[in-house]
Amino acid sequence: MKLTDLHLDCRHFRGDRPCRPHKQHGVECPGCPHYDPVRTRALIVKLAAAGDVLRSTSILPALHAAHPGLHVTWVTAAGAVPLLEGNRLIDRVIAFRGALPVELAAETFDLVINLDAAPDSCALATAARGAARKGFGLDGRGRPTPLHAEAESWYLMGLSDARKKENQQSYPDIMLGILGLRGPAAPPQLELSASELAAGRAFYARAELRGRRVVGLNTGAGGRWEHKKWTFEGYAELIRRLLAEGHGVVLLGGPEEAERNRALRELSPPGVVDAGTDNSLRHFAAIVDGLDAMVTGDTLAMHIAMARAVELVVLFGPTSLPEIDVFGRGEKLVADLPCLCCYLSTCEVKPHCMESIAVDTVHGAVKRALERRAQARAPSARSGRG
Ligand code: SF4
Ligand code: SF4
Repeated sequence: MKLTDLHLDCRHFRGDRPCRPHKQHGVECPGCPHYDPVRTRALIVKLAAAGDVLRSTSILPALHAAHPGLHVTWVTAAGAVPLLEGNRLIDRVIAFRGALPVELAAETFDLVINLDAAPDSCALATAARGAARKGFGLDGRGRPTPLHAEAESWYLMGLSDARKKENQQSYPDIMLGILGLRGPAAPPQLELSASELAAGRAFYARAELRGRRVVGLNTGAGGRWEHKKWTFEGYAELIRRLLAEGHGVVLLGGPEEAERNRALRELSPPGVVDAGTDNSLRHFAAIVDGLDAMVTGDTLAMHIAMARAVELVVLFGPTSLPEIDVFGRGEKLVADLPCLCCYLSTCEVKPHCMESIAVDTVHGAVKRALERRAQARAPSARSGRG
């Protein structure tokens, strides 16, 4: 075989090693049945936060539909890499460590997409070589700027809490609009391997929750907005009610929820299961995958549950309710207050937005979520806790 026989445009071609189809089937380029020509090479820049990264994957199905033969390279913050790994709509994931990744220095893309007006995202998207650019970049003075008219609205929203509050469009629809893509937007995309799903099932087997409807309570919401998470007393009462009804209850969270979840567990009747607060992102997602419903604030866990088709009950206060599309898999709860979507890290309102959402309201939404789940979930339809 000669160099000219190689299919250099094949999605599987590596250049430094045999391609995967060659390793699996012994094929060579001439006449190869696995030849998958790349027609458009896209670079997507979306660095943080993890929840934003995951929700941005909603654009991928529409992007692929618009560009047959698309090859996607996604640059993201190192901490968000696990959320993109294994995604069949992404060919390569690169961790951003503060400078133009060396892998990109020699490449030219057909399309550079930057969905974020953050300075580091814009610098990276401006430095990367691309024939066309969508979204945001840096202007001549190093300031983030929209690159075209479709990106202006989101840019202006980022400069004004009032405009953010006025917005009625969902984030996926806004992103599709920036890219000039046709909807409908898809839920976030997060794929788990067979072994990761098996580890999730093992968790439920150890917790002896088989045969019960299981509700996950994601009790925290990070530290940026104090009132993005529901009250401790609300969760404690909800746990009592759900256990009394015979449901399984799993406490979820990250390191910041360790103390809160420990206190909830100690206060609760026997039976509540603490999933721990130091799970890897992907094991956390595998545990979420086995839930029937989740109660949460506007969090990364919410986006993971959306991606894994878990029924949601989401409580909103300081952040935007219209921005979140639960794709028909849940209810969004909100207090009757004029100050919602304030984007304040804390406030003096009494009772505040989370205190104003009653246990009866949340409990009722959970019951409806479990009913929808019971109707929709054929026993063999999903690979969750089994
Ligand atoms: S999949 Fe086939 S065509 Fe593609 S690089 Fe491998 S051998 Fe060549
Ligand atoms: S101002 Fe209103 S919406 Fe914002 S945190 Fe306070 S109570 Fe919640």
